[in-house]
Amino acid sequence: MNSKTLCSACLLGASCRYDGKSKANEKVLNLAAKETLIPICPEQLGGLSTPRVVAERNGSKVVTKDGADVTGSYELGAQEVLKLAKTLGCNKAILKQRSPSCGCGQIYDGTFSGTLVEGDGVTTKLLKQNGISVITEEDL
Ligand code: SF4
Repeated sequence: MNSKTLCSACLLGASCRYDGKSKANEKVLNLAAKETLIPICPEQLGGLSTPRVVAERNGSKVVTKDGADVTGSYELGAQEVLKLAKTLGCNKAILKQRSPSCGCGQIYDGTFSGTLVEGDGVTTKLLKQNGISVITEEDL
């Protein structure tokens, strides 16, 4: 089976972000014109609504700015993305940098102060653990 690539849906122009907006990325859109990218939004797949309260990873948990623990929804979304990756034969992904789900190597630190730390979003971490290589739109 040919390798297929997952892609954060917000980078492809879907308005699935916490603020109800998209984050369409020109390089991603150019790539999508040449090859099939499979759009996923782990936060929506985990059952969260759009728009939703902004959240950040905080240690092993994910917590919203108003203090709700949404770790379970983030983990469910990650599992759903992994399931799709296995079903569709995806071994790579292009995910949105710094998101608590999709960030790769860099995420916000859980203080909602704009401070970055090394780390992966919940979905990125699970995909990597399962042998799926992850890059971000900034690596294109
Ligand atoms: Fe984009 Fe990922 Fe956030 Fe969904 S979870 S809006 S795909 S960064």
